[in-house]
Parts: sequence; C-alpha cells; structure tokens
Amino acid sequence: MAQVTVVCPHCSSTGTFNHGLGSATGSFSAQCKHCHKSFRVYLRQGQLYEVKLH
Ligand SMILES: [Zn+2]
Repeated sequence: MAQVTVVCPHCSSTGTFNHGLGSATGSFSAQCKHCHKSFRVYLRQGQLYEVKLH
C-alpha cells in the first residue's frame, strides 16, 4: 500500500490516505477523516496530481 497526503477540498484539513495504485497513474476515491465528505484524488506515476470534488 502506498500513501499520499492530500488537502481536503471541502474543509482544507490535511489527511493521509492509503491507496493501491503504487507508482501508477490513476485515481481513487477518498473520504476526509475530518468532515467525512468524499473527493477524488488523481495521481501521476504515484505522485499527487490533482484533487477534484465529486
Ligand atoms: Zn474535509
């Protein structure tokens, strides 16, 4: 499992999320641990690329 640290687009709190993408390019759905809203995290070669609201 790889991890990425993302700032929530809803409440701006920082969270660390596990994902199964490794160093691949792709996206996964994450739920903020603070406000419990969900958003989509896009990775490029395992690095954070973009965070979008659903
Ligand atoms: Zn949040």
